Amino acid sequence: MAQKYETKQMDQPKPNPFENALEQLRIAAEYLKLDEGIHQILANPKRQLTVSLPVRMDNGKTRVFTGYRVQYNDARGPFKGGIRYHPGVTLDEVKALSAWMTWKTSVANIPYGGAKGGIICDPKHMSPGELERMTRRFAAAIAPIIGPYKDIPAPDVYTNSQTMAWILDTYSTLEGFMAPAVITGKPISLGGSLGRDKATGRGAVFCTVEAAKVNKIDLKRATFAVQGFGNAGSNFAEILQTYGSKLMGASDSKGAITSKTPMDADKLIAYKEKTGSVVGFPGSQPITDKELLQLDVDILSPAALENSILPDTARGVKAKIITECANGPTTPEADKILHANKVFMIPDILANSGGVIVSYLEWVQNLERISWTEAEVNDMLEKKITGAFKDVHDASVKHGVDMRTGAMIVGVGRVAEAVKTLGTFP
Ligand code: NAD
Repeated sequence: MAQKYETKQMDQPKPNPFENALEQLRIAAEYLKLDEGIHQILANPKRQLTVSLPVRMDNGKTRVFTGYRVQYNDARGPFKGGIRYHPGVTLDEVKALSAWMTWKTSVANIPYGGAKGGIICDPKHMSPGELERMTRRFAAAIAPIIGPYKDIPAPDVYTNSQTMAWILDTYSTLEGFMAPAVITGKPISLGGSLGRDKATGRGAVFCTVEAAKVNKIDLKRATFAVQGFGNAGSNFAEILQTYGSKLMGASDSKGAITSKTPMDADKLIAYKEKTGSVVGFPGSQPITDKELLQLDVDILSPAALENSILPDTARGVKAKIITECANGPTTPEADKILHANKVFMIPDILANSGGVIVSYLEWVQNLERISWTEAEVNDMLEKKITGAFKDVHDASVKHGVDMRTGAMIVGVGRVAEAVKTLGTFP
């Protein structure tokens, strides 16, 4: 049976995520002394597609869903970015996520641009059959603008490897040949990469290891909390725990918990799989979302959705390091407060780039008809993401700025250089 699904309302009004993205771009443009024309190009998505999706529901009625694919910039390579299913999806959210993808692939220095997709729907209230029909209709609707050398989608919130398999099958059926490189995050049986399922969490841990070195924090004794115990958050917890760090708090859409003694991330994953939530985990106590974000821990990972750390929450954050597994969890105002309070921020476009880095490795394996072992994939991920961390940290030290601005200087700088060198058509 479909589980009750609710998105918690935070205590303060939420800013428009695309306005946040433009504000971050404006700050980077100032440091980079960007030409006004280049800044304008980077402040606008190259292509925005809105589609209507008629879907036969199980009760025999037809419902029309709205979906989006925003292709932000492809100066450095084909568009790349996930597809999200959520009732709160808006065009501005998808635009923001597509801009962040553009800077993210650039920070990771992989040959991609940035895109994002989404459908306004409540997947927890839909049957597998309804989800499959909606996904296939969406795949058919965006088929003209995606492709292995054009735009390569991937999973995001409430989509998974099965969703990717339906998109692959629909696209390949329409094209008349099997095209595994059109999508990443696929099941292994269809050309997916070993290590992709845990890549975002693993990459975030590699960044946290580097941040701990910079901040002289011993991970063997460190404590941490995770907001949003889904794919990214639970894998982050499971892998960080192998370094000796202790999980003291977690949450999902149904609520937040803490515990006086460290929680075993593997057991919490199994408990959530069985019951549908972290709430009620044996030995834990319920707390509010804000209390979770303000727990007295060394490392905090927001791994749910945008705008979860607002100014009022930021003032009470006690963590020394924030690892943003989620995209856009911290508003620009909250960022300033955290920076002033000397919280070391590993920004989303760096912290969660492990997912797109291993998506890139999956795509390369598909195009080259080769396959790497999980150890080889994890090794390449570690080299790529620690290299990206160093580039961002060096930029933040050189310009005397926080890590987010450092990441934007690196990410926007490379895209701006590519846009400038390509020139303006015609
Ligand atoms: P997911 O659907 O697996 O997990 C999301 C989790 O967040 C769920 O446990 C859900 O219950 C929880 N959640 C939702 N609303 C919440 C709320 N208000 N408070 C607390 N928890 C809440 O999704 P995911 O793939 O893990 O993505 C999470 C974030 O990470 C998103 O911002 C996504 O864009 C980002 N991200 C994911 C990947 C990836 O490879 N999965 C890659 C890069 C970035």
